[in-house]
Amino acid sequence: MDSLCIRSPILSPVSVLVATGSSDELKARAIKAIDGMRSRLARISLDIHKHPEIRFEEQHACGILCKELKANGFKVRRPMAGMETAFVATAPRAKAAGPRVAFLCEYDALPELGHACGHNLIAAASLGAGLALAKVGYPGTVLVMGTPGEEGGGGKRMMIEAGLFKGIDAALMFHPSFKDEVGERMMAIQELEVVFKGRAAHAAASPEDGINALDAVISVFNSMNALRQHIRDDSRLHGIIIDGGARPNIVPERAACLFYLRAQEQDYLDELVKKFLNAVKGAELATGAKAKVNYISSYKSRKVNLPLCEAVKRNLEVLGRRPKGPTGARATVSSDIGDASQVVPAAHPFIAIGKGIAYHTRGFAEAARSQKGQETMAVAAKALAMTAIDLALEKGLLEKVKRAQAGR
Ligand SMILES: [Zn+2]
Repeated sequence: MDSLCIRSPILSPVSVLVATGSSDELKARAIKAIDGMRSRLARISLDIHKHPEIRFEEQHACGILCKELKANGFKVRRPMAGMETAFVATAPRAKAAGPRVAFLCEYDALPELGHACGHNLIAAASLGAGLALAKVGYPGTVLVMGTPGEEGGGGKRMMIEAGLFKGIDAALMFHPSFKDEVGERMMAIQELEVVFKGRAAHAAASPEDGINALDAVISVFNSMNALRQHIRDDSRLHGIIIDGGARPNIVPERAACLFYLRAQEQDYLDELVKKFLNAVKGAELATGAKAKVNYISSYKSRKVNLPLCEAVKRNLEVLGRRPKGPTGARATVSSDIGDASQVVPAAHPFIAIGKGIAYHTRGFAEAARSQKGQETMAVAAKALAMTAIDLALEKGLLEKVKRAQAGR
């Protein structure tokens, strides 16, 4: 994609940028630095893709990223926040006077589907942006942060709780997609597990002695399915049965389900959780089974920082992309970037790695290792690096971003 842009008569990033002030000159050098490391970044992203690791087991991915950062003079701290696969890497020659920007790497895969969310590309793009800025002498502090377990683990949340986002002026990352869009909102999510305990009995010889825990789980599903008609359009309820008993001739004494509840606003999510808990109580009363509810993890909704998203958009445009937004449109996905966006200004543009693909599918995993995927990763690395340069050198931008974050 970037080589195409350079040939474009209207949008030639390097020639346009060199012609104007020092910010543009620095951007042109960062673009050149990323072009110079493209094959290395592609190799890293393909290596991570080839070795999919689920949440908090990302030893291989974390290892390669830390090795690359160390080799380029970054000071790498790992483990962090009690997570073996979390790291914080600080670029050499930081300038305390400038902004402190963090490029966030994700690298966890999905069970069975591998890199069907393209986190291998997120890792490579954030790595590339950080390395490039260190190389060109960024007038501020560059951090590359390894945030594990995005797929239902919440590595960013744990890093926030450990104080690792304190003092960061902006957190930047991209997410592979089927579209180019900046500044979409994301839903808050609560993950809930319910384990029902009943009483085992022979299902044919003495069923009257049993208490059927699976019936309790099915009752929760029926209640949630009934509820679905009466909740707001922009909410989501979806679950799976994770334990449904051992044999049909044994009344299941244990059964369990896992539900994700999502809503645009935290208040409404809290209401959905209450309704869910009522469904669980109803199942207990109806079946006699006893429930234990475990709050597994939760993500906050995403706060959209308009001036920051607009800066990302302008840079993507210079690179030849035409992203939609920022409109603050509602998306029905969730991520722990939501939690990060509540505490620091955060950019999370969606940038297409293919058409007609959908998240968490085998097709998306294919796109995440395609040529187009690698091209998008390089464009993303450039746009993120350029945005960090804007934060340091574009007069008033950082102030505007801070004001927007504070809601002023
Ligand atoms: Zn993802």
